[in-house]
Amino acid sequence: MTASIDNYPGFPEGIPGMELGVKMYEQAKRFGAILINSRIERLWRDGGTVLAQSGGHTTTPKAAVIATGSTPRKLGAPGEARLIGKGVSYCATCDGPLYRGRTVAVVGGGDSALQEALFLTRFASKVILVHRRKAFRAALVLQDDVRANAKISLALGKVLRSIKGKDMVEAIEIEDRQTAETEVIGVEGVFIYVGYDPNVAMLGPEFRRSEAGFLLADTKLETSVPGVFAAGDVREKALRQVATAVGDGALAAMSAYAYIEGLNKLA
Ligand code: NAP
Repeated sequence: MTASIDNYPGFPEGIPGMELGVKMYEQAKRFGAILINSRIERLWRDGGTVLAQSGGHTTTPKAAVIATGSTPRKLGAPGEARLIGKGVSYCATCDGPLYRGRTVAVVGGGDSALQEALFLTRFASKVILVHRRKAFRAALVLQDDVRANAKISLALGKVLRSIKGKDMVEAIEIEDRQTAETEVIGVEGVFIYVGYDPNVAMLGPEFRRSEAGFLLADTKLETSVPGVFAAGDVREKALRQVATAVGDGALAAMSAYAYIEGLNKLA
């Protein structure tokens, strides 16, 4: 869903996320990978067997790699749920072009919020970046770009109290954390980037997780369930980027292969 991935090696001009994904799929297909579109409802291990349930069928893969990623977190502010798709969005790439010449707000202070605020300046006339602290956690290069962009105005040390609007977003109410003063600002879109939750609903408690719910895996990327591996944003890790997800994928796949073949070493 990212408009342009600028920090993945091999693409000096950057590449749209969708295009990179399709290229990766084509490459995997060339080596014989088979794509099956289906939703796994449950994945577990019984004795020595890994089982995956989907649409009433249960299959028994020899090993599995979980690479289900994560889902954007909701803020829980009044008006947010009611106005999803009516001005509240979690995907600037998808909805940004709808806001040509309009004023929008972006909430958050991480890489996602700053990257998407920059992306939105291609369309919006003004982007108000609302962050609860005065310092950003995003990469410095993004911070520099944001501060240098005349279309972005910063609302720092402020929390979003509510999103207002009858049928569509009309305004946001923000509160200064120091003075408790509130302010209502007219906006037509609100893009929320306050982190992600891992997609692990299909897994039981036998899968060990971090406090935030991400899968814990060992140095071979095997989870606490033998024969089941984890790769990408779904697992607990220090850096969630495409480059690290691809590294995870290679390692998890080789580890799964070694598990199936009963090998002690990968290569
Ligand atoms: P993140 O790094 O977890 O940042 C979430 C931001 O939302 C933080 O600034 C946090 O504030 C704020 N926040 C969280 N809960 C909030 C709440 N209830 N109310 C108000 N603000 C709240 O998430 P992310 O930016 O989506 O990034 C996720 C991962 O993807 C990171 O590892 C990131 O590096 C990676 N990523 C990388 C790139 C890239 O490499 N170009 C692009 C996008 C994402 P505080 O700062 O006060 O905690």
